[in-house]
Amino acid sequence: MMDEIIISGLKIFAWHGVYEEEQEKGQTFVINAKLRLDTSAAGESDSLEDCVDYGKVCLFINDFMRINRYNVLEAVANHLARKIMVKFPLIQSIELEIGKPEAPIPLPFDSVSVKVERSWHKTYIATGSNLGDSEEIIRNALENLDADENCRVLRSSKMYRSKPYGGVEQDNFYNSVFCLETLYSPIELLTRLQQEEKEAGRERIVRWGPRTLDLDIIYYDDLILERDHLRIPHRDMSSRDFVLLPLSEIAPYKRHPILGLTTLEMLARIKENYVLTMKEENE
Ligand code: ATP
Ligand code: CA
Ligand code: CA
Repeated sequence: MMDEIIISGLKIFAWHGVYEEEQEKGQTFVINAKLRLDTSAAGESDSLEDCVDYGKVCLFINDFMRINRYNVLEAVANHLARKIMVKFPLIQSIELEIGKPEAPIPLPFDSVSVKVERSWHKTYIATGSNLGDSEEIIRNALENLDADENCRVLRSSKMYRSKPYGGVEQDNFYNSVFCLETLYSPIELLTRLQQEEKEAGRERIVRWGPRTLDLDIIYYDDLILERDHLRIPHRDMSSRDFVLLPLSEIAPYKRHPILGLTTLEMLARIKENYVLTMKEENE
């Protein structure tokens, strides 16, 4: 269970809205927020340093709402929720409601509001490269992602070497897996990873062919997602030594949300193969 800090009825005068009048005259917005986090450190130490300072959060909300201009409440809420999470990294998730009690509606009403929930999602990403300076390319991608305010790299496996997959004649691969916390939705994350692949000079010529950088989403929390362009968990991960071996280093007991097996259990199922195809680099 997560603890909560609750802010309610915070009033801010700002200029969001689709109508010219709203943008010119402004109006009062009312903010309710629930910040979920672990407060046990602050509970023990009784020190502000271990806290999310709710006064600062309120001032931050005020500045954000007054500096920026959006047309719709959905955009204010989405951007503000994420910015609060970036600014106050102890917050694990946020529920943010922005109300507009003076909205231009020609009927009697108390308020209208938009409520969003945002959180840091724990994802596992598998890397692969067999073109160019692979180790440097992978390291660089991790640095770039860590520098993105919507992402934080928590842990990374060692680098592994694997034989190519899928029958195309090519050099051996460098592989690793890392744990990434992100505010991006699954689709946004895929787009962000593809941007990183592109920056590394990835060209899609043949499926399973040589590439400077491949970044696959293995897990996203315990989400099960099946879209045309995105399947989570990654559909072949449970049979791939070059995913399971590095993953077993950083998440040995994490369970596959469909198969119900831990990384170590999945690895044990393919063990006969992996000893043959896999070699830890410095061994
Ligand atoms: P494989 O997916 O078997 O490892 P690949 O990585 O070589 O093969 P790509 O050409 O990199 O294949 O990707 C093909 C498409 O797979 C991408 O355009 C993307 O839309 C889709 N895709 C589906 N699920 C995922 C996922 N979990 N992570 C990354 N891409 C995915
Ligand atoms: Ca892949
Ligand atoms: Ca891929």
